[in-house]
Amino acid sequence: MAAANWKMNLTVTEGLVLVKEIKAGLPSPLDCDVVIAPPFTHLVPVMDIAGNSGIQVGAQNCFHEKSGAFTGEVSISMLAEMGARYVIVGHSERRQIFGETDALVRTKVNMILEAGLIPIFCCGESLEIRTSGKHTGFVQSQLLEGLFHLPAELFSKVIIAYEPIWAIGTGVTATPEQAQEMHAFIRQAIVEHYGHDVGDYSRILYGGSIKAENARMLFSQRDVDGGLVGGASLQGPGFLAIIAAACG
Ligand code: PEP
Repeated sequence: MAAANWKMNLTVTEGLVLVKEIKAGLPSPLDCDVVIAPPFTHLVPVMDIAGNSGIQVGAQNCFHEKSGAFTGEVSISMLAEMGARYVIVGHSERRQIFGETDALVRTKVNMILEAGLIPIFCCGESLEIRTSGKHTGFVQSQLLEGLFHLPAELFSKVIIAYEPIWAIGTGVTATPEQAQEMHAFIRQAIVEHYGHDVGDYSRILYGGSIKAENARMLFSQRDVDGGLVGGASLQGPGFLAIIAAACG
């Protein structure tokens, strides 16, 4: 799976040029999931251009209430009606800049699943936590607080993205060994909670400075099931190379 998080980048016009470029360069047949998460304003136009190419569309966030006096926010039913299939939740930028807590992330996960959409649940530690050697415990607590309350049937729909904060937008990528170590840890935590029937099939993406040059090596790790890509998803050739690495 290759998922693009455009964040607050590209105008609609620029975004549609990029989607056309990606669409034209997709592997054929396309036998894995390719997702683009543009800003809310781009969702419908991106979906229109994507057509039946296989490119799926997701949102980068949703609000944690169903409706009401929440000026500026977008609800999950609005996203569902538009045709979004995925919602990124718990991204470190939302946690750090907007103060989203594990409890809030859990509420959003519940709402996304209730609406029939798929959460892409982000977790990952800061540099300070990694340096102190507490990274696995930290990620485990994010999983416990944000996801492990779900019954197995719902949990199995969730996609997890391990995104170490020190690797996001920094150009410093986790080594394949570091990624594999954490992904194996996450899978084991899932197995312990839900059993092999769920854990063996859970999709765990890596995110953090993925580029065309390092994607293949990261994705070849046993427990890495693809990537969530920020900066490198804003350029057609680079993202297409990452898609090829994820889907090959
Ligand atoms: C992200 O923010 O989800 C991300 C992975 O960003 P980047 O690829 O730019 O590090």
